[in-house]
Amino acid sequence: MSIAIVGAGLGGLALARVLHVNGIEAVVYEREASRHARGQGGMLDIHSGQRALREAGLIDEFHTIARGEGQDMRLLEPDGTLLLQEDTPDDAPLDRPEVDRADLRALLLDSLPEGTVRWGHAFTSAGDGLLRFADGARAPYDLLVGADGAHSRVRPLLTDARPAHLGQNVVEIGIPDVDRTHPDLAAMVGRGTYWVLGDGKSLAAQRNGDGRVRIGLTFHGTAENWFATSGIPLDDPAGARARLIELLPGWDARFTALIEACDDTVVPRSLYTLPVGLTWPSAPDVTLVGDAAHLMPPVGEGANMALLDGAELGLALAAHPGDFAAAVRTYEREMFERTGAAARMSTDLQNMLTAPDAARKMLAFFQPG
Ligand SMILES: Cc1cc2nc3c(=O)[nH]c(=O)nc-3n(C[C@H](O)[C@H](O)[C@H](O)COP(=O)(O)OP(=O)(O)OC[C@H]3O[C@@H](n4cnc5c(N)ncnc54)[C@H](O)[C@@H]3O)c2cc1C
Repeated sequence: MSIAIVGAGLGGLALARVLHVNGIEAVVYEREASRHARGQGGMLDIHSGQRALREAGLIDEFHTIARGEGQDMRLLEPDGTLLLQEDTPDDAPLDRPEVDRADLRALLLDSLPEGTVRWGHAFTSAGDGLLRFADGARAPYDLLVGADGAHSRVRPLLTDARPAHLGQNVVEIGIPDVDRTHPDLAAMVGRGTYWVLGDGKSLAAQRNGDGRVRIGLTFHGTAENWFATSGIPLDDPAGARARLIELLPGWDARFTALIEACDDTVVPRSLYTLPVGLTWPSAPDVTLVGDAAHLMPPVGEGANMALLDGAELGLALAAHPGDFAAAVRTYEREMFERTGAAARMSTDLQNMLTAPDAARKMLAFFQPG
């Protein structure tokens, strides 16, 4: 009885690890050529997902890569008004630490037996107990788990639902080695997240473990083809920075200084979501974990849910030896309820972020009463 997992992201790897801890082997098929094929970039805020890491027997190792000080937050308005500053005491519990996505992925990869992940396997279709890959290779399976992210190729085996554009487009830029190159901006951003919200746009700057400050500029209420019409020359980094500053009229000079200090990496990202509360009739031989199952607005839940999905499915498979249908039903019942609630909460938070007085709304959210 073979278990095939498509996708070596957080959800697929957490599943493989929890299965391994419970004495069940699985194969993970990943389209990337190697673990270093693509920069993983960025920080993740890991809270409920810590339960999955405990089930995976990796919580102590997680604590060694988690950055408690990454919980610091500064919230500002576009005119420069500082609304909130939270600094994390040294002895604060690691409730919502930040972790470098690459470190977390490496922790999971290193915890698996050699050969568990088959790199360079881009899944294309499945049927008659066989997986098919882009290079013509095939592999047998009894249970197929789609852990292949937002634009899953496994999802259509279970549902016709497709991700829809969220009406938001993000430009990612960043300042390398900020302490050395721009100590004044390093002090301004601080150790965690620096957030400017207002007038249908937001700037989120975040210090990464490698000393880079990553900056995401989000343009709310923008169409799927916005990058074609925005006037941002993505192939001309200096021109792109100048256009981004133009798109933030009236923003305080400290924020435009952040943009001017960025290097030449300019990454456009369009945001998509699946319908909130998506379910499907259970099938005995296919299921989904992570973004493939419940792509939601990126407000700090997706990675946590992906880790928990992997752990919950692994535990369900261990609890129903040889009965994949029962394990999948048990997992999906819990997963639909948990992730439906997380998607509703993420959508509410997202609506708050797009409101005209977003910064004040977020202040009330963080400091109720
Ligand atoms: C900018 C940003 C910031 C975020 N910050 C946070 C945060 O702070 N906290 C949080 O909880 N969440 C956060 N998220 C959400 C989080 O990143 C995702 O929800 C999470 O990575 C989903 O994990 P996954 O394993 O389902 O999918 P992924 O991490 O996308 O992994 C999918 C894997 O499948 C592989 N794959 C895809 N197609 C195929 C194929 N056909 N064949 C084989 N392999 C395939 C991919 O190469 C990839 O390795 C953020 C998201 C974004 C965009």
